[in-house]
Amino acid sequence: MRIAVLAGGIGGARFLRGVRAACPDDDVTAVVNTGDDVTLHGLRICPDLDSVMYTLGGAHDSERGWGRKDETWRIKEELTVYGAQPTWFSLGDLDIATHLVRTRMLEAGYPLSDVTAALCRRWQPGVRLLPMSDERCETHVVVDLPDEDDEGNPGTGPAKRRAIHFQEWWVRHRAALPAQAFVQVGVDDATPAPGVVEAITAADVVLVAPSNPVVSIGTILGVAGIREALAAGPAPVIGVSPIVGGAPVRGMADACLPVLGVEVSAEGVGRHYGGRADGGLLDGWLVHDTDAASVPGVEVRAVPLMMTDDDATAAMVKAALELAHL
Ligand code: GDP
Ligand code: CA
Repeated sequence: MRIAVLAGGIGGARFLRGVRAACPDDDVTAVVNTGDDVTLHGLRICPDLDSVMYTLGGAHDSERGWGRKDETWRIKEELTVYGAQPTWFSLGDLDIATHLVRTRMLEAGYPLSDVTAALCRRWQPGVRLLPMSDERCETHVVVDLPDEDDEGNPGTGPAKRRAIHFQEWWVRHRAALPAQAFVQVGVDDATPAPGVVEAITAADVVLVAPSNPVVSIGTILGVAGIREALAAGPAPVIGVSPIVGGAPVRGMADACLPVLGVEVSAEGVGRHYGGRADGGLLDGWLVHDTDAASVPGVEVRAVPLMMTDDDATAAMVKAALELAHL
């Protein structure tokens, strides 16, 4: 069986471990969000691809949720002493090696999809990892920045409307600055990376991981050609709710959904994705067993959706395959 999975970072990574555990002999391709990607200290950083790669490679820090286990922070400390900006984004020493290899390959002219394949030769994730696009397409957040002086002291002037990089909003401001809109800078020129449309078109089933519906899955769907491939493809599309009991299980997805006018509930996200017959994404929608949802044209099933370990996640994946009648 061929399985395509749309995935963000941590939610996507955990879900993919369950896919691998439930379907060890199947051919799995993950299409991963690259809208969070950013260049800092001259290094090209791909947070979601790295979360998936490290998690499937067994090298992730499961408590922190991102980055490498047994990480050290000496380079970060040195950068801080130099006063090198920005100081709000943590880069671990082991992680920096990945970014150095990636940046060097990109600068030598290799596309991100080739670079990702090269990095994965070390980590052997057991699934094929594809960036959604080889072109830069970075999420920015429109916010009203309060007036402040160069040292960051509050001023008396009016707030300034600015589009800041998603990472600055998410990591520096902890998503606490009210977002007016999300903008994908570069999306007009972005095309699906080689293999993305083919993986969707050839799949027996497409699974939408319980990733952030706005800044992970929504970003992937913003790349021209991906949504169309999902709509036209023969494979059923089954989504898994990241919202349980009216809140994200982990993270700050509740800061993103209201910006699009979407209710923070399993039903809200299901309706936002919509049924394929109505021009939406889904044929089936899995919600947590304490939730209920009605989504026109979509078969909804309630099962436990807490990804506490690979066995629990594999059971979710099997329920998704049953919903696809596989
Ligand atoms: P990020 O890119 O690292 O922010 O990660 P993703 O976009 O892939 O996933 C974030 C989403 O994962 C959050 O909105 C969480 O609600 C969801 N999530 C995390 N753990 C669980 C879980 O155990 N069950 C479910 N259903 N969702 C989860
Ligand atoms: Ca992410």
